[in-house]
Amino acid sequence: MTEEHMNNDPFEGALTQLNKAAKIIDFPDELLQILSTPQRQIEVSFPLKMDSGKIQLIHGYRIQHNNWRGPYKGGLRYHPDVNKSEVKALALWMTIKNVICDVPFGGGKGGLEIDPKNLSKKELEEMTRQFARSLAPNIGSELDVPAPDVNTNSLIMDWIADEYEKLRIENGGLKIDANKLKAVVTGKSIKNGGSEGREEATGMGGFFVLEELVNKMGLKKPLTVAIQGFGNVGSHLAKLLCDNGFEIMAISDSRGGVRSRTEKGFNIDLVKKCKLEKGFISECYCIGSVCDNPDDVKGDISNETILKLPVDILIPAAMEGVITGENAPDIKANIILEMANGPTTAEADEILEKNGIIVVPDVLANSGGVTVSYFEWLQNMNGEKWSLEKVNTQLKEKVVKAFEEVWKIKEEKKVSPRTATYVLALQRLKEAYTKVVQP
Ligand code: GLU
Repeated sequence: MTEEHMNNDPFEGALTQLNKAAKIIDFPDELLQILSTPQRQIEVSFPLKMDSGKIQLIHGYRIQHNNWRGPYKGGLRYHPDVNKSEVKALALWMTIKNVICDVPFGGGKGGLEIDPKNLSKKELEEMTRQFARSLAPNIGSELDVPAPDVNTNSLIMDWIADEYEKLRIENGGLKIDANKLKAVVTGKSIKNGGSEGREEATGMGGFFVLEELVNKMGLKKPLTVAIQGFGNVGSHLAKLLCDNGFEIMAISDSRGGVRSRTEKGFNIDLVKKCKLEKGFISECYCIGSVCDNPDDVKGDISNETILKLPVDILIPAAMEGVITGENAPDIKANIILEMANGPTTAEADEILEKNGIIVVPDVLANSGGVTVSYFEWLQNMNGEKWSLEKVNTQLKEKVVKAFEEVWKIKEEKKVSPRTATYVLALQRLKEAYTKVVQP
């Protein structure tokens, strides 16, 4: 293990994954070099007038990693820890993800270094509109298409679409079809051109992938699960698992969580209700029958402990870099389904592989979100409106196909699912380069 990998820098970690796969297939060095640097790195700063009258300088990024297969595509996050290395890693992972789920997009990612939970709604809207203006010259339905990510949602995407449209009109009203203008971002509200099923799509895609894996491995249900994260991804996935023969033994949000002390998992509807009432899962004392157990204590599990529980499946569905060289040896689950982006450091990855733990990589496990983003983009571009049934059927088809393709390479080359995923991505990127880009 080299120094640079030990420091867990996110972009270095992403490059480690890329290099590992490149070695296996003798990937051309010059192409690897190109893929190791984003094509464009945009840094923005703008002043935000706070409700108090004070001015706060807001800082952020949009990294456009690669566009060989189509417009850059990936989310925008609002988080105090946003930094350039993280956004570069996230953009690279989007390139890989979009290749794997076979949507005609390249990879990009952006973010603002801010805690949106400390902003009023007015400040949040103003900040988002300013961010949209800063990004406007570099985004567009056929150039770069942002979407929701950590702490951003359909309302924020609606503001960006609206601001972008206003700007285009102000700047001479270039004649672009109104639907196509809306395709500048995905993950919008349904009334504003969003797609049915987009909100649940990441969780739904993860569920389809896990079901496929369970069948492939011949595992018998019920299977026990611990989920770190109860945001848009974790909560929808938890509900699907709970309804389909999985027992959710522990679940947490940013402040910590709860663990079931009985053999039965939580009823997720009750967890949702409690979180809604109390604000945080750690405040939930009684969830269904669980509080009948006298041992049960309020908010009894930390976000670190939840990773080490003796369950069949561990699902990190919050932030990156949570599974590290330090805690990886203590992980007892046989399967890790990475619903967050980059939850496992390169150092941890090696330990997990050595310990025989199957890690379904983020770029496959959570590709349902961008897959339905693609459906949304397609509906906007073609002036269509798909039913929820059509969205979910096509989503399942796409993620199951991606899973099967990755699994085939994993078996053939006897590598981890992550390396197999990167091998497949590199093969397709090379093809795109040769067909479309090469001078
Ligand atoms: N932010 C999501 C991801 O990391 C979705 C990206 C998108 O829909 O463009 O995959």
